[in-house]
Amino acid sequence: MWVVAEKDIAGLMTPEAAFDAVEAVFAAMARGDAWNFPVVREAIGHEDALYGFKGGFDASGLTLGLKAGGYWPNNQKHELINHQSTVFLFDPDTGRVAAAVGGNLLTALRTAAASAVSSKYLAPKGAKVLGMVGAGHQAHFQMRAAVRFGNFERIVGWNPHPEMLGRLADTAAELGLPFEAVELDRLGAEADVIVSITSSFSPLLMDGHVKGPTHIAAMGTDTKGKQELDPALVARARLFTDEVAQSLSIGEFQHAAAQKTISDSDVTALGRVITGDHEGRGDAEITIFDGTGVGLQDLAVAGAVVELARQQGKAVRVEI
Ligand code: NAD
Repeated sequence: MWVVAEKDIAGLMTPEAAFDAVEAVFAAMARGDAWNFPVVREAIGHEDALYGFKGGFDASGLTLGLKAGGYWPNNQKHELINHQSTVFLFDPDTGRVAAAVGGNLLTALRTAAASAVSSKYLAPKGAKVLGMVGAGHQAHFQMRAAVRFGNFERIVGWNPHPEMLGRLADTAAELGLPFEAVELDRLGAEADVIVSITSSFSPLLMDGHVKGPTHIAAMGTDTKGKQELDPALVARARLFTDEVAQSLSIGEFQHAAAQKTISDSDVTALGRVITGDHEGRGDAEITIFDGTGVGLQDLAVAGAVVELARQQGKAVRVEI
């Protein structure tokens, strides 16, 4: 099997490779060529950790495997980040383990790629202003990918903890774009594309905040109970997601679904837009992509990084 170490991922994985891998696997899911397996997530009763697996099989890319890991809230004492994961790939012809790949940076990159892919297909024409709701670890990755794959001229940002916005402004400066911290009503009125990436459990961006043609990539809600958007905003938008069932159960759309203002027939897999089977934005004023994070995204970027590592002689071969 091949081993690609976490420390080598940054030098190997390019934003373009992550974008292409995620776009391709969303399309494969929509064609029915790739499917995710049921997610396992358990509180293990040790170190307050949440541990689980996300897996799947992409028959078109021949990628089979799982991401194992979770959230260890006390990891600071070990000088480790709290989110820890490893991706395991298997040979779909034989079942032999094919690769073990550090999954921490890959998770950040595939999540950033997902919102950038959604903007490619759903952003209003000529989008120039990016709005960031959130300023944590993942927000920097989302901003970098949005800027790399969009044509933004300036960034406005808001965060429930405003003291965190300074670092986001530094990232915008690195990317060569002006950044302004604003209130949510200004952000919603000025931004053409909004990326929300917080761990909020109550709505932050309200229906009244969002004005004019806008695309929202709602990326923070990946668990039951989390929420970033006003259900009334969801109810008046055209809705897209990575995987419909996951979006309605643990994603942002769980809340509007619980209120019965939307049903599964209102939500379209983004892959259908990528394959040309759905028109996408059409004449909608607001589109929302609910990025819940699926195992196939992890496998897609892991498969891409193993190829890059092998080409560059950075994959280590071990017998098992
Ligand atoms: P982080 O801890 O670095 O940052 C947390 C962010 O949420 C900050 O902006 C913080 O100000 C805000 N926040 C914290 N507590 C809050 C509260 N009670 N109410 C409102 N806002 C609050 O986390 P991160 O790594 O940036 O991740 C942000 C979110 O994205 C998390 O919910 C995480 O689970 C989710 N996530 C989703 C995916 C996906 O595929 N959809 C992937 C990775 C992370």
